[in-house]
Amino acid sequence: MKPLLINNLDFAKNQDEISQEIDVKNCERMLDLLDVGQQSPKIIRYTLMGVASQFHLPSLALHVEATLPVLCQRCLQTMELDFSLDYTYVIAETEPESFEGDEEVDWLEMSREMNVDELVEDELLIAMPLGPLHEHACKPLVKEDVEKPNPFAVLRDFIK
Ligand SMILES: [Zn+2]
Repeated sequence: MKPLLINNLDFAKNQDEISQEIDVKNCERMLDLLDVGQQSPKIIRYTLMGVASQFHLPSLALHVEATLPVLCQRCLQTMELDFSLDYTYVIAETEPESFEGDEEVDWLEMSREMNVDELVEDELLIAMPLGPLHEHACKPLVKEDVEKPNPFAVLRDFIK
């Protein structure tokens, strides 16, 4: 499968839109983190939209959907993680100062051959939890209503 390369500035200015699928088997960096095994092929779906002007700059909006198999770090059984991710990127030659530290907006360098599949894989790698656990069965029980011991009571016991 050929990677999708776009001129990201033109794409944004023309308000182009694409919806694509990536077979996870083609995402080498991600395969290390997954438990793909013999299961049916896993597909990442994404939609990329050009936005002519957002924050006064040409921008891209990316939506990624995927259900990926990972190994639960407690019971070592496969579990499926659902991802539904949204990103906004402004396209500029250098990082716009006003966006530094703004976590809502990312910045992408102008490129005539931006590899969209790679961008999608990058974002999924960042979104991937480090130690995935089954939601109920394997998460350590968190007692929410534990009262903190009163330091004076502890002291009192100590004096006794
Ligand atoms: Zn588990």
